[in-house]
Amino acid sequence: MSHLDFPSKRAPFFQTVSDDNWNDWRWQMRNRLRTVEEFEQLFPLSDSEKKALDTPDHFRVEVTPYFASLINPEDPHDPIRPQVIPTSLELVDNEGLMEDSLAEDLHSPVPGLVHRYPDRALMLVTTQCATYCRYCTRSRIVGNPHQTFSGDELEAQLDYLESTPAIRDVVLSGGDPLSFGVGRLESLLKQLRAIKHIEIIRIGSRIPVFLPQRITSELTEMLGKYHPLWLNIHVNHPNEITAELAEACDRLSRAGIPLGNQSVLLAGINDCVNIQRELVHKLTYMRVRPYYLYQCDLVHGAGHFRTPVGKGIEIIEGLRGHTSGFAVPTYVVDAPGGGGKVPLSPSYLISMSDHKVVVRNYEGYIATYEEPTDYQPHNAATCTICQQEHLQDEVQEGVSGLLSDDRLAIRPEGFSEVHKRGATAPHRLQQDQSKWTPHKEDK
Ligand SMILES: *Cc1c(COP(=O)(O)O)cnc(C)c1O
Repeated sequence: MSHLDFPSKRAPFFQTVSDDNWNDWRWQMRNRLRTVEEFEQLFPLSDSEKKALDTPDHFRVEVTPYFASLINPEDPHDPIRPQVIPTSLELVDNEGLMEDSLAEDLHSPVPGLVHRYPDRALMLVTTQCATYCRYCTRSRIVGNPHQTFSGDELEAQLDYLESTPAIRDVVLSGGDPLSFGVGRLESLLKQLRAIKHIEIIRIGSRIPVFLPQRITSELTEMLGKYHPLWLNIHVNHPNEITAELAEACDRLSRAGIPLGNQSVLLAGINDCVNIQRELVHKLTYMRVRPYYLYQCDLVHGAGHFRTPVGKGIEIIEGLRGHTSGFAVPTYVVDAPGGGGKVPLSPSYLISMSDHKVVVRNYEGYIATYEEPTDYQPHNAATCTICQQEHLQDEVQEGVSGLLSDDRLAIRPEGFSEVHKRGATAPHRLQQDQSKWTPHKEDK
């Protein structure tokens, strides 16, 4: 027996439920808790929780009996409870918070499909979840049964994917894609697999965490037919790791699906190096690799969950070197306005000269690395990968493009208008202006 054997919990109120019902995901879905009365069968609510639950039009509340059983009513700082039960803090409109902070709607060529990066797309396949996270980044649409995507919209999403050969990686998200019935999910996976240029399919789901009973062998056998398929779960705190979750992850892993975890850094829930270290140890013990730790988005209703960015850096500082390298997630800020994920990390590069790099490790040991003096740069002309036809007239975008060709700068919008005061001056050097035009809209 390992000291990491995981518990299985059931609130006293549910003790009389038969095991057959308890282990049946349909029973769990039908018996989700939503109202003050339902929650108070388990434990008394605070005035703040009651006020939020009684506010009309609040962001949808549903909690599976399984997940509600993980709440310890005796603990005033329970890390599960505020993730799923609203408080009046959710009703406060904090300055700077937005409905669609990642500008996803702007990046949607068709409803429900977010095409932010060149080679991958995010498909919002449903707005339904098994349980709703209070800090949901998509609370503008998630939970609303009237916002669910129609068959026509799904067709439009598939048409877009079909006609965009640059997309090789499709992320299914929502809402929770595993809230679909097996047949419906299979038909979607089949349609995606029929598109030749889609190499990998990923699913983002918190169902293994909220409703592990849903990960039946029927489901995993079906998923196993559509490889390469990857799946990210969403665990924020070690208390969410139970025998049931471990079993669900084991089933998914045995079906050949590599598992990752995406967690959100949340004030009062997991903003602590010790919690994060225990979390990543338990995840890796279940063969789930920590993938991203997200800075909380600037979304309405989630202001009270935000931490300073420095807290995230402090957590990575406490993990890198202190534990297995593959247990360390990448800490990311999803840049407001649609900039995408920006990784942040403590700085390990201390200084550089023309022949030496000075680095420090996690212990604060400072070392130098002598650069080679006889380095022969990579020769694209003799490289079989670089010589591939599809790379011949491709322009590498972004900062990487600045390194790989002779462009000189990336300019903010309007930069050229502000900085052409000397354009007509006689002393102006005649130089190749094309080097200064990486902005497509300027061309
Ligand atoms: C997060 C995200 C992806 C996937 O990003 P990875 O860094 O490849 O995991 C793709 N599209 C959108 C819009 C995203 O938000």
